[in-house]
Amino acid sequence: MNRFVISLTASAALLAASLAPAHAEFDVANLKKAIQASIESDYPKLDALYKEIHAHPELAFQEVKTAARLAAEMRALGFDVTENVGKTGLVAIYKNGDGPTIMVRTELDGLPMEEKTGLDYASRDKTSWQGREVFVAHSCGHDIHMASWVGTAKILVGLKAHWQGTLMFIAQPAEEIVAGAKAMLADGLFTRFGKPDIALALHAGPGPHGTVFYRTGVGSSAADGLDITFHGRGGHGSAPHTTVDPVGIAARFIVEVQSVISREKDPAEFGVVSIGAIHGGTAPNIIPDSVRLAGTIRTFKPEVRAKLHAGIERTAKAAAAMSDAPPPDIKIVEGTKSVVNDPDVVATTAEALKIAFGDKFRTSPPSTASEDFSEFTGAGVPSMMFNIGVYDQERFVAARNGSGPPIPSNHSPLFAPVPKPTIETGVTAMTLAVLSAFGQKNRRK
Ligand SMILES: [Zn+2]
Ligand SMILES: [Zn+2]
Repeated sequence: MNRFVISLTASAALLAASLAPAHAEFDVANLKKAIQASIESDYPKLDALYKEIHAHPELAFQEVKTAARLAAEMRALGFDVTENVGKTGLVAIYKNGDGPTIMVRTELDGLPMEEKTGLDYASRDKTSWQGREVFVAHSCGHDIHMASWVGTAKILVGLKAHWQGTLMFIAQPAEEIVAGAKAMLADGLFTRFGKPDIALALHAGPGPHGTVFYRTGVGSSAADGLDITFHGRGGHGSAPHTTVDPVGIAARFIVEVQSVISREKDPAEFGVVSIGAIHGGTAPNIIPDSVRLAGTIRTFKPEVRAKLHAGIERTAKAAAAMSDAPPPDIKIVEGTKSVVNDPDVVATTAEALKIAFGDKFRTSPPSTASEDFSEFTGAGVPSMMFNIGVYDQERFVAARNGSGPPIPSNHSPLFAPVPKPTIETGVTAMTLAVLSAFGQKNRRK
């Protein structure tokens, strides 16, 4: 049966053909067609919005122009918009009678890197970041998310005869430094605007466009920062016996800490410790006083996370003790937790998306990357985050058989989604997910 039950009231002209009377079944296939027809007529505006945002990205907590642009779009659609929530974030509310509140989140920020796609709308913008001038690029696809977010809002307003409740569309700053979701929550997101019944988000990534990837349960890794300073006693490089060499201690730690991964952690469980920065010393013949390491810890499960934290600390202390050095300064800073997709929300959404996307609606393994959408799921909101592909299918064939270049991932300077089919998929999938979410909450009543 190609039918999906959503108990919504029905009457709009747009969907008249695809709807039965009030509180009856939607024909998802026809609903998808109607949504796509609507996107088709709106697309020039969405394309312009996407390319403008793409060409002028802004970094974490600097997204002033981007947020203002989205605020104007949402006000024009009739949303009640509050700006500067969590510094540069915004909250757009659309009330449409009694019913559940469904939250849809986009990110606002780009990355401090140079875009090398050669597209005519590529970013050449620069900004100041941590005391340096850097290029800025939307190499994670947050611009795709913003265009899809506005497009979804527009269609849902057009369909307002078919759902009841509140749309809570939020644009979150600083996802790339996993700080923006926390900032919005700390600024009263759920107390000033109410806690949503269900939260939804999507992410663009290196799959074929038209494809939607999803999973139940853990969807992304927990990320923690690692900052260790090993102390020694500096001196001449020719006389190591008069020193305590922190370079050697740091080197021992870097190698040994991988034993926590390979010998202590269950090999069937995911866990990574990567040291991304080493700072120590100034000259070949000077043993320095100290060496500082910075790294990242990624896990899916809290118990694995606790085990890695303990193992890292023990290994660092032991590496120092072996050289009779003072204890190291060890800082493990919580970044963000795993995104956990709620089984009920996923099941309901999957029912509709399977019909709409057929075999292009696929399960995927959890991502080892991290994502601060987890702050909302962690705050107890049943949620779903899904992924959409961005490239032409032929590129995957060419990359596989060696006749084309490798597929650039998110954060690559070559990351270049094909805008139209990607945004169309984002809007279609998110609109159906929101309608499913309203349907799920209404069925429970
Ligand atoms: Zn990113
Ligand atoms: Zn991202």
